[in-house]
Amino acid sequence: MKWEEDARQVVDAIPVHDIIKNMIILWAERCARKAKRDVVTPEDMIKTRDDYFEWFGEAKIAKIQAARDNNQSDTDLDPEIALNKDPALYKIELCHSRFFGCDRDLINVRELGPKIKQKLEELKITEILADKAFEVLMPHSVFTVSISGCGNICTGAESKDIGIHGAARPKVTDKECSQCKKCAHACLDRIISFEDGRPVINEDCCRLCGNCIQVCPTGAIAFDKKGCRIMAGGTFGRFAKYGTELFRLTDTDMIYPILEASVNLIKEELSETYEDNFSLLMRRTGISPIFEHLSKVGKI
Ligand code: SF4
Ligand code: SF4
Ligand code: SF4
Repeated sequence: MKWEEDARQVVDAIPVHDIIKNMIILWAERCARKAKRDVVTPEDMIKTRDDYFEWFGEAKIAKIQAARDNNQSDTDLDPEIALNKDPALYKIELCHSRFFGCDRDLINVRELGPKIKQKLEELKITEILADKAFEVLMPHSVFTVSISGCGNICTGAESKDIGIHGAARPKVTDKECSQCKKCAHACLDRIISFEDGRPVINEDCCRLCGNCIQVCPTGAIAFDKKGCRIMAGGTFGRFAKYGTELFRLTDTDMIYPILEASVNLIKEELSETYEDNFSLLMRRTGISPIFEHLSKVGKI
């Protein structure tokens, strides 16, 4: 696709995150194709800007613009970089909500990251894993804790050693329902129906994503409980496996004793043999050692 010089020059003027810049370029080219042209013009860039502004909303665009005005790049703003910059055998992943929040987040990943780092440091996971290593340390030797703000799980937390995502259980309240059906449209699992003018949620199939709560304008659907889902023992690659769900919905305070239990398990049970890792270890032991620890420390 060809670009008019004026169009190319305004790509950088659109305030979006650096990792989205290439998407901006591709969207502008799509706009040109839709207009049956083979060249991107400034008109395509105006449409592109408007489309992305609508998607992100005024408040977030203003924050990104303010950061740019202060000469701050995404790298300057990214808390994940600070969490993972020192030599360590753990990695902490945060979803994109780590920059300026996300309309969907149910937990604050930006606050949780440093607390999890502090806990892993206290537990000395790096030394424990290094001393157990069968071969020289490589990137696959790290223990990964992955945190997403909501059940969209943008970090792929279900395939990590410890996977956490924000979760919220909805409840139908006595407040008026305006019949706008925003909740039903927002529910990607299509489990909200209506009876006698009231919403009915199929609780057995609810994924606790909280979308319906966030869009309800009247409070007819509201938070029953908000917290996080925690999984352990996920991995990808040759022995790919989803993490086993430890808690479907619990307080974020539960993360720290689960980290203690996991590191204890590694210390006591991980064998110094080829390709052993936390996920394979959990396949052998199951989740009972984690719950035994939680019981011992009075968390359950
Ligand atoms: S996981 Fe949820 S909160 Fe995080 S970036 Fe994705 S949609 Fe937003
Ligand atoms: S929490 Fe999510 S899955 Fe459950 S009813 Fe609401 S929108 Fe649907
Ligand atoms: S429950 Fe809320 S979002 Fe759903 S139809 Fe009623 S007012 Fe609209």
